[in-house]
Amino acid sequence: MTQDLSKYLDALQSRYKNQKEFLQAVEEVYQDIKPMIKDNKHYQEKRVFERLTEPDRIITFRVEWLDEDNQVHINRGWRVQHSNLIGPYKGGLRFHPTVNESILKFLAFEQCFKNALTGLPMGGGKGGADFDPKGKSDIDIMRFCQAYMMELQRHIGAKTDVPAGDINVGNREIGYLYGQYKKIQNQFEGVLTGKDIEFGGSHVRTEATGYGLVYFLIAMLEQHDKSLEGMRVAISGAGNVAIHAALKAIERGAKVISLSNSKGVLVCEEGFSEESVKKILARRGDSDNALKDVHEDINGKWQDDETPWHLTCDVAMPCATQNELNEDDAKSLIDNGCLCIAEGANMPCTSQAIELIQKEKVLYSPGKASNAGGVALSGLEMSQNASFQRKEFDVLNEQLREIMTTIHDRCVNYGEESDGHINYVKGANMASFERLANAMIALGI
Ligand code: GLU
Repeated sequence: MTQDLSKYLDALQSRYKNQKEFLQAVEEVYQDIKPMIKDNKHYQEKRVFERLTEPDRIITFRVEWLDEDNQVHINRGWRVQHSNLIGPYKGGLRFHPTVNESILKFLAFEQCFKNALTGLPMGGGKGGADFDPKGKSDIDIMRFCQAYMMELQRHIGAKTDVPAGDINVGNREIGYLYGQYKKIQNQFEGVLTGKDIEFGGSHVRTEATGYGLVYFLIAMLEQHDKSLEGMRVAISGAGNVAIHAALKAIERGAKVISLSNSKGVLVCEEGFSEESVKKILARRGDSDNALKDVHEDINGKWQDDETPWHLTCDVAMPCATQNELNEDDAKSLIDNGCLCIAEGANMPCTSQAIELIQKEKVLYSPGKASNAGGVALSGLEMSQNASFQRKEFDVLNEQLREIMTTIHDRCVNYGEESDGHINYVKGANMASFERLANAMIALGI
C-alpha cells in the first residue's frame, strides 16, 4: 500500500510540477505519517492521505480597482478552501507580489494541519492576491481591499469560511475588508477574524502568534530542563509575529539580539529593550525603513543585506516568510552553538535545513505547531462573536498559553523517539493527521 502511496506522490509531483512549495509541504508530512498509514487499513482503504492532499476547491478571480488617480489596475485573487472536515475553512489572506497558487496551496494545506492541532473546530484555507501594497497610499489599499472583497464575499461566511490576516494584511486591511463585506451583505457576523476590538475583534488577537510562539518555546525548553531566562534569541522579521515574539521573550527575561527585514538585519548585542521594540512597532507599515532608521537611537548595528543566522545565539526564531533559512544558515547557527530553532513563520526552513537540524538533534519546532497561537486566538474570536460576548485580555492570554502548552504536549506524545529525542515535526504531523483522518472516515465519502 505504501508503494501505491509513493506512486500517488509521483503522480502528484508530475501533475503539480510547478508548485514546488506545495509539493515540499506535502512531502514533509508524508514522510512522517507513512508508518501510520501502513499500520491502518482504514486509512489505506479510504485513501485518506490522497484525499487530504487535494484541496476541496480553489477559487480564483480577477480583482479590478481604481487607484487614487483613477487609473485602472488588475490583480489576481484566490481563496483555497482546503478542507472543512473539522470546522469552517479558516486561514489568513496574504497580499504580496509573489503570491501564486502553489504558495496558497501549501499555506492552506499547512493551515489545515495547524488548525487541527489547536483542538478547536476549524478547517483549513488560505487566500490572497498578487497585489503589492508597498508604497501604496491608504486610499489605494482601501480600494484594493474593497474590490477584493467584492469577489470574495460570495464564497465566505461565519459558518462557511472565515479569513483573517497574514503577510501585509493587518488590522487596517481587515477593517476595510470587513467594512465592504458588511455593506454588501448587511450582516454583522464574525466573517473575518483579526477585527478591531471596537467592532467585534478580540483582545490578544494581535499579539497571539508572537506570544504563542514564546509560550511554545518556553514549554519546549522546560521539557529539556532549560529556561528562556538569559538566553540570546535571534529573531528574523519585523512584522506582527516578530515584534510580539520579541516583546514576550524580553518580558520573560531573554536577550533579543536581532530583528530584520528584506533589506538587512538590526543587531543589538546587549539585547533590545522593550522601549526600543515599541519604537519599531510604532512605525508599523514601514518596517522596511524603520529598522535602519532607529538603529542609532537604540544603540544597535544595521547590517545591509544580512540575515540574523550568522549571529551567535541560543535560540533562533525565523518569523519572516517561507524558505528564509537555508542549509548554510542552519549550519552556521549550529556551529555557533544554537540549541533551539522555533518557527514563527510558515515553513521558514528549507527541507535541506530541516534535514541538517534533525540530524544534529537540535531542538526544532515547525511553524504549524509553534505559530498556531494566531489562529487559535482567531478561534476564540469566532466563539466570542457567535455568543456576542467579549472576554478580558488576561483570560484570553491564559487560554492562549494553555492551548500552546497542550499543542506542545501533543507533539511530545507523538514525537518522542526511542533515544528520547523529541521530533516535534513528526509529533505535529502525526497528531494532526490522526484527527483529520479519523474525521474523514467518520464523515463518510
Ligand atoms: N495567518 C495566520 C496563520 O498563518 C492566522 C490565520 C487565522 O487567524 O485564520 O496561521
